[in-house]
Amino acid sequence: MVKIQQIKLPVSCTKEDLENKIKKLLKISSDDLISWNIRRQSLDARRKPDLFFVYTVEVAVKREKQVLKKVNNKNIMSTTPVNFSYLKADKNITLKKRPVIVGSGPAGLFCAYYLVKAGLKPLIIERGEDVENRLKTVEKFWETGTLNTESNVQFGEGGAGTFSDGKLNTLVKDTKGRNQEVLKIFVEFGAPEEILYQQKPHLGTDLLIGIVKNMRNYIKSAGGEFSFSSKMTDIQIENGIIKSITINDVENVETDCLVLAIGHSARDTFMLLKNKNLPMEAKAFAVGLRIEHLQTLINLYQYGQENSSYLSAASYKLTHKCQNKRGVYSFCMCPGGFVVNASSEEKRLAVNGMSYHDRDSDNANSALIVTVVPEDFPGTDVLRGMEFQRNLEEKAYKLGKGNIPIQLYGDFVQNKTSVSLGKVNPCMKGNYSFANLRELLPEELNTSLIEGIEAFEKIIPGFSGEDSVLSGIESRTSSPVRIVRNELFESEICGIYPCGEGAGYAGGITSAAMDGLKVGEAIMKKIINFS
Ligand SMILES: Cc1cc2nc3c(=O)[nH]c(=O)nc-3n(C[C@H](O)[C@H](O)[C@H](O)COP(=O)(O)OP(=O)(O)OC[C@H]3O[C@@H](n4cnc5c(N)ncnc54)[C@H](O)[C@@H]3O)c2cc1C
Repeated sequence: MVKIQQIKLPVSCTKEDLENKIKKLLKISSDDLISWNIRRQSLDARRKPDLFFVYTVEVAVKREKQVLKKVNNKNIMSTTPVNFSYLKADKNITLKKRPVIVGSGPAGLFCAYYLVKAGLKPLIIERGEDVENRLKTVEKFWETGTLNTESNVQFGEGGAGTFSDGKLNTLVKDTKGRNQEVLKIFVEFGAPEEILYQQKPHLGTDLLIGIVKNMRNYIKSAGGEFSFSSKMTDIQIENGIIKSITINDVENVETDCLVLAIGHSARDTFMLLKNKNLPMEAKAFAVGLRIEHLQTLINLYQYGQENSSYLSAASYKLTHKCQNKRGVYSFCMCPGGFVVNASSEEKRLAVNGMSYHDRDSDNANSALIVTVVPEDFPGTDVLRGMEFQRNLEEKAYKLGKGNIPIQLYGDFVQNKTSVSLGKVNPCMKGNYSFANLRELLPEELNTSLIEGIEAFEKIIPGFSGEDSVLSGIESRTSSPVRIVRNELFESEICGIYPCGEGAGYAGGITSAAMDGLKVGEAIMKKIINFS
């Protein structure tokens, strides 16, 4: 296979333009071209509004050696694609007790996918509803404020990431090709092919719901079983080995292989695991507020034009180091998206962001967050970070009188409650009320946020516009705890596999899914080694 990098074409280019460029670069005719595919597409906006895509492609050609000899170009080379492979259980292996996976978020689903591919028949239990019913429950919550604490934006089939922007990029480096494998699996279940090569691939809630359903049906057809509205409420351990779990306080299921893919919001389950002395440690995370701007402001900055007929809504990634040494950075940016009420507990309010595949709302939003470390919430309780989140969410709920508390940035700086909106109309899922958000966070975090927003104004003109809309609280940025595991991905309790974001080993959809594949592989290795 031949790899060609740095192919630069205007964003208006067609597949045909790219193919002609490939043939020209390789000095070959159509007859010599067997096939090609895009490996990477990134945007070059340095000469905006003239915008270019920069491609890396893989090409199969006749007489490859001769072609490579003839072209002599540093951006053209031979390559061997890395394909992810699955361990397989020997047909004769029959497990007395089947693996149980708690949680059907990306970590749980991809672990289940690995195990059924390997020939096992896991049981996947999920405290929330299946995705079809969950959608109705979440939409009812956004319309009426009636919260189902077991099925909501955090809990239910597909996990926290289902009602999201569905950004799939991750910083996790992986030599085994798991990142690409996760993207391929999303495509296998209905995601558009371009996520395989886009610099910033994203799905959007509307596509995610279909993909989750298709993945469930595949896992069931391959021998897996799902049980929804089924919460793990207890675990039974004997001599340091997992023996069984209890579902909904009534049903007992025996297992010697338990995957805990419970996510960052399973607070009651964290309490259960702490009481069962599962080794856990407090972990740093971040909190902050969401900010909304007109999407055209961000497009103008990134593309040099308010709208592009070739590109979807523009995104940004910003960081700032404050004088007080704290970092302020943008997180989970949702172009053309919505701020959502992402609460999962009564009288506690948390926000997050989502978008649909077209990213076509009027506003861009992101969380502006500040890192908080265990030292910020004194004490020895391993779950004190979780209590810190809860306190902030209780305040947010009170400030907004049960609705999302919002404030214009100008009023936030002046420490007064807003009374009317400016040119930015909130794009929100869930009702909102004006409040003074300065009363939400510790003052040191408020001043850090203001310093950060003023610094971002120098990068994106208009970012600190007085009528930019702030909302809060963004508290579920990652897990407040890590459930300790060893290099075999197992807890000190034999047979328990902490997995994904809730266990403190992932941050985001793709890295959680990759961790699911890793844990699936670790389980297979143990079974094969000990059979
Ligand atoms: C609104 C929102 C938008 C987001 N946007 C993005 C984005 O655009 N891109 C991105 O990369 N990340 C995004 N994230 C983060 C991403 O969703 C998570 O990182 C990812 O879902 C973590 O996957 P996970 O499988 O580890 O946990 P989760 O997805 O949280 O899944 C855990 C599952 O376990 C279940 N569970 C918990 N306790 C129990 C129990 N006791 N018994 C049974 N089931 C249980 C829960 O109901 C849940 O379904 C977003 C998150 C939210 C909330």
